[in-house]
Amino acid sequence: MQFKDVYVDQSLKDKLLGLVHSGRIAHAQFFLAQPGSHALALAIALGQYLCCENPTDNDSCGECPSCRQYAGLAHPDLHLYFPNCITENVKKEPESSKLINEFRDFAINKNFFVNTNSWVNILKGENKQPSINIRDCSNILYHNSMRAFQNRYKVYILWAADKLYRDAAPKLLKTLEEPEDKSIFILISEEPDKILNTILSRTQLLKIPKLQDSEVADLLLKEFPTMNGDDAADIAIIADGDYIKAHQIATDDEDEAALVEQFGLFFGSACAMANRRSLAEINYPAVSEAIAAIVAQGREQQKQFLVFSLGMLRNILLNNTGNRGVAKVTRGEQTVLDNFAGKLQLKQISQIYELCNKAVYHIMRNGNASLVFTDLFFQIAKVAA
Ligand SMILES: [Zn+2]
Repeated sequence: MQFKDVYVDQSLKDKLLGLVHSGRIAHAQFFLAQPGSHALALAIALGQYLCCENPTDNDSCGECPSCRQYAGLAHPDLHLYFPNCITENVKKEPESSKLINEFRDFAINKNFFVNTNSWVNILKGENKQPSINIRDCSNILYHNSMRAFQNRYKVYILWAADKLYRDAAPKLLKTLEEPEDKSIFILISEEPDKILNTILSRTQLLKIPKLQDSEVADLLLKEFPTMNGDDAADIAIIADGDYIKAHQIATDDEDEAALVEQFGLFFGSACAMANRRSLAEINYPAVSEAIAAIVAQGREQQKQFLVFSLGMLRNILLNNTGNRGVAKVTRGEQTVLDNFAGKLQLKQISQIYELCNKAVYHIMRNGNASLVFTDLFFQIAKVAA
């Protein structure tokens, strides 16, 4: 990844280059990323620049052996860490290095427009929340104690650093404060409030803003050459600077479609049940199927469903209060939203919103998923009546 291919403002690239040239680049960087921004690409481009054998003043060469290794994310001095967990292929003691091939494919296929949700969907982890765990931290310390393979920079990227396991994080404090010479740590996160302050205070902050609408449209046209310019511009407006969202809209993304369908089934069944007068009228198989489908997923996906539902409830509110144009939604979402037209009052929506928030709380604290979602279902049915 060269700087020229990174979709962030030129001023950010210039700032990093200036720090490199003046020898003032901090050993620990924190990239605070807006959703759907190109933060990971920027981190890789910086690493590639530091290791390039023939760099110009403002970019790596893209051709030397080091740059080629970087292009495949396979440079021996590039160390990638990301949330991981037990998966179908990694049955025990998960750590980033065991899932590195999956992560490389994921990042490269998505042109480095990546977020935790899409990664979690690839991991298909079981009932554990993915994290950058204690084994990862031990590996960082180990590599940090070794010499670089190629006598240039060792680059450590901690992607989704908010998933750094709390009890493991303190292991890194000393390393972040006094890394070995020519080591650079780049932490990337969209949720800095979930990172220990003791970690953040040891890093240099760089804010990565969302993309401009024109950049989003530009990227869409590059990726989908048959799309017409007006459609690209429309999608860019809905996506609001988040290229991952723009891509989902453009492709009728499967993950997104699955969430929309699940929302329709779960909330639709709950609302339908609210209007039944006798037990005999309830289609119980459909109800239990709606709940079972969610419970069968991993915890992180259950949270994803609830967070998505919170967004949909906001959209129902906007739709039902005559502000349909304000809701930025995909076509699939709008179809489901139409089913709720006029069915829920403001007070009901806000109560259901609160119930979903509580469910997020319980799921993230390892509450029994079957109980949490069954309870949520019946509570919604009660509120919607
Ligand atoms: Zn090079």
